[in-house]
Amino acid sequence: MREIEVQEIEVKSALGKSGLRELDYSLNPYLGCLHSCIYCYAMDFTKIRPSADWGKYVVVKVNILDILRSEVKRKRKGIVGVSTITDPYQPVEGRFKLTRESIAMLADNGFSVTIQTKSPLVVRDTDILEKHRNSIDVGFTITTTDNRKARMLEPETPSPASRVEAIRRLREKGIETWIFFGPIIRGFNDTTGDIRGMIEAAAETGSRIIYDRYNLYPASAEKMKSMAVTRSLQGDDRWWSSTVSEIRRIADKSGIICNSEEEEWQMNYRSRYGSFF
Ligand code: SF4
Repeated sequence: MREIEVQEIEVKSALGKSGLRELDYSLNPYLGCLHSCIYCYAMDFTKIRPSADWGKYVVVKVNILDILRSEVKRKRKGIVGVSTITDPYQPVEGRFKLTRESIAMLADNGFSVTIQTKSPLVVRDTDILEKHRNSIDVGFTITTTDNRKARMLEPETPSPASRVEAIRRLREKGIETWIFFGPIIRGFNDTTGDIRGMIEAAAETGSRIIYDRYNLYPASAEKMKSMAVTRSLQGDDRWWSSTVSEIRRIADKSGIICNSEEEEWQMNYRSRYGSFF
């Protein structure tokens, strides 16, 4: 059994600025992530420990609900990403329930919430998600439906099949769901079989897909070197354009809505502001 360190801290703010264009705020109840994905970009943004320790510790913002309670009353309403540099439903959430209480508080106070996770634990909060189904959506990251490959990339995450099952259960309750297919890594999860698996998961659960390629960040690149497939982690534009064509071809055949991150952002921008630029 692996050793895990859980550290409790107090913070002065809850809603942070997000680097993602589609979000007004980010909310990260935890720092560090026990899911230990070797491609994790958050390693490069969470500078509190050396990246070699990634997946072995989690920092819990124990007073975040007290701070958020005051911020939701005075901050401008907007879209909150939960979370952006950690998985909000990683194992410690089972005990601390900070994500559960945060999303309820945000939605009760007129904020929209977009959740992204790899954990079926989110199904525990179906009561809140159902009540606020017009202002909360849930995205599941699935890099591949091939369990063997998933174990290499994401050694401590719940299986891809359990995530698909969780999406199905949320959809049954009328909750909006989406699948993030990424990061797509050249020579690893970019085969026609991988793409088919993702499209089937989307078709089974009535979800749309957002996809993105792997971006090279120093800490994750270091971890990725341990993998057998390191020819060209990021891939070139020619590879990416042929991968996108294959995704589109298979998605179109199945009638699945499939957008790149850029397209998704443009659509969100138009729906919020009416026109683009
Ligand atoms: S679940 Fe997300 S935040 Fe956690 S290790 Fe994996 S990629 Fe990083």
